[in-house]
Amino acid sequence: KSVSNKIAAGEVVERPASVVKELLENSIDANSTSVVIEIRDAGKSYIRVSDNGRGIHKEDMYLAFERHATSKIYSDAEIYDIKSLGFRGEALASIASVSNIEIITKTADDEYGIRAELVGGEIISNNSIGCPDGTTIVVKDLFYNTPARHKFLKSNSTEMNYINTIVNNIALSHPEISFRYIVNNKNIFTTQGNDDLYSTIYTIYGKDISKNLIKINHEKEEMKIKGFVSNISCTRGNRQLQIYFVNGRYVKNKVITRAIDEAYGTLMPRNRFPICFLYLDIPSNKVDVNIHPAKTEIRFRDERRISEFILNSIKEKLLSSDL
Ligand code: ADP
Ligand code: MG
Repeated sequence: KSVSNKIAAGEVVERPASVVKELLENSIDANSTSVVIEIRDAGKSYIRVSDNGRGIHKEDMYLAFERHATSKIYSDAEIYDIKSLGFRGEALASIASVSNIEIITKTADDEYGIRAELVGGEIISNNSIGCPDGTTIVVKDLFYNTPARHKFLKSNSTEMNYINTIVNNIALSHPEISFRYIVNNKNIFTTQGNDDLYSTIYTIYGKDISKNLIKINHEKEEMKIKGFVSNISCTRGNRQLQIYFVNGRYVKNKVITRAIDEAYGTLMPRNRFPICFLYLDIPSNKVDVNIHPAKTEIRFRDERRISEFILNSIKEKLLSSDL
């Protein structure tokens, strides 16, 4: 069991940022309204995610760390999606097999919660404990038992960049949830969780970036685009601040990038890397998500129509806001 878990872990858990992503997605799935992420040592020795979500029943605790143990029931429509995402019910088991874990969890139905410790996926202790509703998972010493993987971790600053990207993007895609982000005992940000996109962006990226944002909100046929564009360029001279979500999911996609380039290219040729935060709603039958297991790459069917929609929406906005 532990060997196959370790092998599976190779697919799901590439680096600390992948652990952060899986834990955060579980907190979101658990209907949390408030989530704390704490990172030390670039996640190599310590990752904590605490949420106020529905928690895990004592009887389900063991199951949660077994492979293919998902408590989530998916609709037929989602089956296609699940297959393509691949890893349903494998994240916790995989993470546990290559780390040491402490979990504290309580459901609203239970009077007491449970605290357990796992070493390399095996539960070595568990007791009843008084605690608030929700789940805290601490992942320690990632890859302690897979030296080859441990060796391939990058420098702390590189691993932190990956983690920051994940945390920022997840916070941006859920403005209705409050995220508190702590790195090496320092508070980085706390989003309000008031479902306001602008205040979420402001909290994460600060005043200089937020004050230059222009709200965009367009709709055509069954396509929607909302969010913010701006008249300033990313000072880092790259696309790091061109952030877009398709159907709630952070993605990278050349069609979108090109549409942005083209819109600005004709109207503001000097703004080479315009900052934008775009949320697209595209009918799911027009989106292929299965071209990359990391789930960030997608492909559109009917690319032209979608690209024209994005291009025209941005152009119209830039023209009408006399920048
Ligand atoms: P999946 O998310 O695909 O179901 P995971 O391995 O990520 O698989 O999690 C296994 C199970 O553990 C979940 O289905 C869920 O029941 C439970 N679980 C994990 N994290 C949490 C959490 N933060 N709150 C409540 N339940 C959780
Ligand atoms: Mg999960």
